[in-house]
Amino acid sequence: MSNPKITTDLKKLRHNLDVLSKKITNDGMSVMGVTKVFCAHPEIVKEYEECEGITYLADSRIENFYNYPEDSEKLRVLLRLPMLSEVDEVVEAVDISLNSELKTIRNLNKAAESLNKKHQIILMVDLGDLREGIFYQEELMKTVKEIMTLNNIYLLGLGVNLTCYGAVIPDYDVLKQLEDYKELLEGEFDLSLEVISGGNSSSLHLIDDPESEIPKGINNLRIGEAFVLGGETAYDNKLENMHQDVFSLTAEIIEFKNKPSYPIGNLGVNAFGEKPDIEDKGDMDRGIIAIGRQDVRFEDLTPVDSNIEIIGGSSDHTIIDFTKAEKDYQVGDEVVFHVNYGALLSSFTSPYVKKEFKK
Ligand SMILES: *Cc1c(COP(=O)(O)O)cnc(C)c1O
Repeated sequence: MSNPKITTDLKKLRHNLDVLSKKITNDGMSVMGVTKVFCAHPEIVKEYEECEGITYLADSRIENFYNYPEDSEKLRVLLRLPMLSEVDEVVEAVDISLNSELKTIRNLNKAAESLNKKHQIILMVDLGDLREGIFYQEELMKTVKEIMTLNNIYLLGLGVNLTCYGAVIPDYDVLKQLEDYKELLEGEFDLSLEVISGGNSSSLHLIDDPESEIPKGINNLRIGEAFVLGGETAYDNKLENMHQDVFSLTAEIIEFKNKPSYPIGNLGVNAFGEKPDIEDKGDMDRGIIAIGRQDVRFEDLTPVDSNIEIIGGSSDHTIIDFTKAEKDYQVGDEVVFHVNYGALLSSFTSPYVKKEFKK
């Protein structure tokens, strides 16, 4: 297959899905498998679909749900708050959406009514991370009170998102507030909140931590990064018995020459308006690979060969210092990289990066 390409090892991914979903369900919680980082690529979604420990499939963009198998048995969850302009598609494409705005919920109700459907929502509460969610208790009560009057909306539960904007780390006390809200609302209104969704991959450290725990009332987690990269995201630790190398990115060398390391002439700004900070290391073996910022930020890549180093790049080119390489690299050779979340996201989004699957 031609380059550049992002390769997914489906066996390793499946291992991660099985191991982690089992761990979470054993801890008394259901799992939403989040498919947005790989743009819900059908080959990968299939593994999520077949994984028993995953009850829901979740994504942040409506377009991605059209990649799901039509006969999927899992419930579909829209993670990003719906736009007013897409409420019809939301009601049509997903079973559940996360919400925080009454105006949007009223419109979802209308859309559901015209389709003769009941749309389920999880109401988002903000516990201090300051991305989405209702922050004040008074607003929460008022919102739930009105939701109870909407015939085509079913309030499935409450959710919180943490460690996304404010980098707030989930702990027992933070998540206990969500449980308290559940009890408060169930006491005040005639309802039972079935799903209490306690966050994303940044809540996983609580499962392993002998000093802490997840409050009993929390019965769901929405997991994206941990499944694909094998780590929790509160402290960036690897998770035990999980693969961190499900994905790799490959690019091809298009120039390989021995040249000076310091530019010659008066220095201004580079292609991105930045003043480059370049160290003079004498002559070096320099190679250019055919991948650039239009595909992925080179800062998000780590060469698998630890003897080589990325030294810079522009829209279509990434430059590598091969001076210390033990392998005899040449034009036409492939260079392989480990990816982080950002690199994964942009590789799957770029139409120029081919998608390869190892079965
Ligand atoms: C992306 C997202 C997730 C998954 O987060 P990870 O850190 O990748 O596990 C969960 N919830 C919401 C609302 C999201 O947008």
